[in-house]
Amino acid sequence: MAATFDLLGDRLTLTILRLAFVEHARRFNHWSEKTGAPPAVLTARLAALVDAGVLERDSGEYRLTELGLATWEILVCVWSWQREWTAEWSVLPEFVHLDCGHRGPPVLMCRGCGRTVTPHDTDVELDRDALWHLTSGRRRSARSAAPAQVDARFDEIMEAIGDRWSAAVTGLALAGVRRFSEFRAALRMSPTTLTERLTRLVEAGILLRPETDAREYRLTPRGRALFGVFAFLLAWSHHAHPLNPEPGLRIRHRECGAVLLPALRCRGCEAELGRTEVRFES
Ligand SMILES: [Zn+2]
Ligand SMILES: [Zn+2]
Repeated sequence: MAATFDLLGDRLTLTILRLAFVEHARRFNHWSEKTGAPPAVLTARLAALVDAGVLERDSGEYRLTELGLATWEILVCVWSWQREWTAEWSVLPEFVHLDCGHRGPPVLMCRGCGRTVTPHDTDVELDRDALWHLTSGRRRSARSAAPAQVDARFDEIMEAIGDRWSAAVTGLALAGVRRFSEFRAALRMSPTTLTERLTRLVEAGILLRPETDAREYRLTPRGRALFGVFAFLLAWSHHAHPLNPEPGLRIRHRECGAVLLPALRCRGCEAELGRTEVRFES
């Protein structure tokens, strides 16, 4: 998960992927023109995506690999969240199911039993030992890494998943962690850093501190709506690191008892959505 947050929890990276999917961007110049990112920064980010097996280089072009194509559901969930919970909805493209013509956000379903899933139908299980690793390794500041001109569309969601610390705190909150001491025990970050992240997430409307208990941090409806993003990030993380035995965080569908394999379903015709059956239209 930490590797996934490091790779995908980055505004410029999400913009690169969005342009690859929506505009079929393949060339450096295309991304350079659309993002305005400094060439060195863009080069580094493309190289990181090649290293991670998300893009492959082929005669001067960058193409999405099978693993890269598998990020489409994460991007759709990010879009759905922005559409529903931010003021940016009016400038976002429309999501269309080509087979039935339905326009609008899809819903989450369990591939195991075929039923529609909400966060309330699931248990998020936490392996506290595995979460130790979340804070080890490379650190990167999402803020300094993102040049100012880059796609402002991801500003709000980046407060929640924009670096491994914020992503981990949000993920733990989805798993039912509420108290400062519990966050601290699971994450092993300094109290100052944790306080700073929690405060930022409260300011961003992802968490709130109930008046009845100031030691608690609870997800707002806006924060809980990030469930789909996390479900697909987790699924993609397993896909990208198949040899990693223990995921640290597991979502179980209570109704069927299976570990959740998420899929997207059309609200119009109720069919499970495939990548090639959908499109973003302006
Ligand atoms: Zn199920
Ligand atoms: Zn449909």
